[in-house]
Amino acid sequence: MSIQKSIERIIAPPAPHMVGDGFRVHNFFPGEMEGNLARLSPFFLLDYNALMEWPPREQPRGVGVHPHRGFETVTFAYHGRIAHHDSAGNSGVIGEGDVQWMTAGSGVLHKEYHEKEFSRKGGPYQMVQLWVNLPAKHKMTAPKYQAITAKEWGLCEIPESGVNVRVLTGTFKDVKGPASTFTPIEIYELILRKGSSISFDLPQQYNTGLLMIRGEAMVNGHEIPTDHFAIFKNDGENIAIEADEDATMLLLSGEPIHEPIFSYGPFVMNTREEIIKAYEDLNKGLFGYLED
Ligand code: MN
Repeated sequence: MSIQKSIERIIAPPAPHMVGDGFRVHNFFPGEMEGNLARLSPFFLLDYNALMEWPPREQPRGVGVHPHRGFETVTFAYHGRIAHHDSAGNSGVIGEGDVQWMTAGSGVLHKEYHEKEFSRKGGPYQMVQLWVNLPAKHKMTAPKYQAITAKEWGLCEIPESGVNVRVLTGTFKDVKGPASTFTPIEIYELILRKGSSISFDLPQQYNTGLLMIRGEAMVNGHEIPTDHFAIFKNDGENIAIEADEDATMLLLSGEPIHEPIFSYGPFVMNTREEIIKAYEDLNKGLFGYLED
């Protein structure tokens, strides 16, 4: 019998801010971590656009051309549609259940907008953007783009129990996720029907958090309300969830990267010198070109 991971904190959605004019996000980390940039390592940042309604607009809302280096951006769509273009020549549109996993690595320019038709019609919108840090030896890896559709996620159905586990990375009960990662990472979407429950283990040393996307549920003895983010202590392995109503959760768990973090704006590096170099390289045009 494994030991349960205690809940360290349950964070209510912090005051939202706008990223460009298309993403109204609650930043759970690193914003709420009081300077501890490594608390959820290898995950560096979590921006959550809680469910909202966008009015129709002809000109799509979003965020224009900007650079990234040293990490990966992972965008999850729950409602609405988002388009992406980058200077490595990759582009794609994601809708409900899809993910775009962009490895910025040595550097890309990209832009992120509401998809044209979605923008024209408006409607419900809910998304997550996660920044996954890269270890020093992979920070300058070539840029890469993984488009992962809703169908491509691993699916572990536990029929009698009313639980579905969708697997993006790692392995849940022999079901593998399709996304490749540079360090060991488990990302699951847990979908529990009213009255169902589930119990599973993750390594004690993995930093682990859970975002309640829809509904609410009892997680390791604590009620986690909608739009709240729970952080687990690194004091056990087991997670046990009971749902009194239909609930959907995003679970993030990964082996910490034990390296210094120096982050500034759109760059996540190990040292100040590497940040300065990133700006120099950006100014030299080494991140490529992308039309606005
Ligand atoms: Mn970006």
